[in-house]
Amino acid sequence: LPTACLECPRAADVAASLPRPGAESDKYRRGVLALAVGSDRYRGAAVLAAGGAFRGGAGMVRYAGRESVAGAVLDRWPETVVSVLDPQRPLAGLPDRVDAWVVGPGRGVDADAERELETLLASDAPVLVDADALTLLGRRPRLVREREAPTLLTPHAGELARLLPETRRESVEARRLEHATRAAEEYGCAVLLKGSTTVVAEPGRPAVANPTGTPLLATAGTGDVLSGFAGALLSSGLAPRTAAMSGAFLHGLAARIARDGAPVSATDLVEALPRAFRDVA
Ligand code: AMP
Ligand code: MG
Repeated sequence: LPTACLECPRAADVAASLPRPGAESDKYRRGVLALAVGSDRYRGAAVLAAGGAFRGGAGMVRYAGRESVAGAVLDRWPETVVSVLDPQRPLAGLPDRVDAWVVGPGRGVDADAERELETLLASDAPVLVDADALTLLGRRPRLVREREAPTLLTPHAGELARLLPETRRESVEARRLEHATRAAEEYGCAVLLKGSTTVVAEPGRPAVANPTGTPLLATAGTGDVLSGFAGALLSSGLAPRTAAMSGAFLHGLAARIARDGAPVSATDLVEALPRAFRDVA
């Protein structure tokens, strides 16, 4: 692995950060993660995020969404606890008493999605905001700026550009560390900027680069897997910055080992996450 970046977490740091279930653990103490992801149009995003979530060690994964999506999630992951949302009153069915939320992948940017994001960000639970929810957040940055509970934003370069007014994707790509740091300061929370070199920034802390990334990850759905995986780490009590660093580290490692360097699918990545976990332990 490359070691030349300014500051990179090492496998030992990652291993030390990971939650380890003990004799006193039960599913609630391990962490309940709820997913507000996927839509009729993008059911796979929910299936992949759920896969990442289970492989990240959540004690319970809850899925909140439309019936068709919940069905697709259950077909692949019958251990999911689903809340089918009524299209007439979608907010009424959101579960409470969760330890963390993931919101955004494949969710859409309509008025319902916006009200949902607003509701989740008004809660006290840690929230990982990705994909469509980042597009909505760029229009209403105060939803996170005025939030006190832990928050993790996980944009790629295009999404990060939408979070900062008048910033172009090309500028983000050219100066990734600088833009991730700026977004972290402007939103007052942790930011994981995905892409060629994934970096994690948080106000007042040095930014770090993930050393395990690989262009094998550049395929549809891998970001959805990361959202569920890092979300599970958040739900088990890791701070946003740690969940982001350790999540990105194992996600990159999983892509490298999934097919021994040959191309991988996002589903392959889910299946390789346990081996990545074991490799650092
Ligand atoms: P998304 O942009 O949400 O689809 O997520 C894509 C995932 O693939 C993220 O984890 C990125 O960090 C990763 N990724 C995309 N392109 C590259 C690249 N060229 N090198 C390394 N990782 C990449
Ligand atoms: Mg994405």
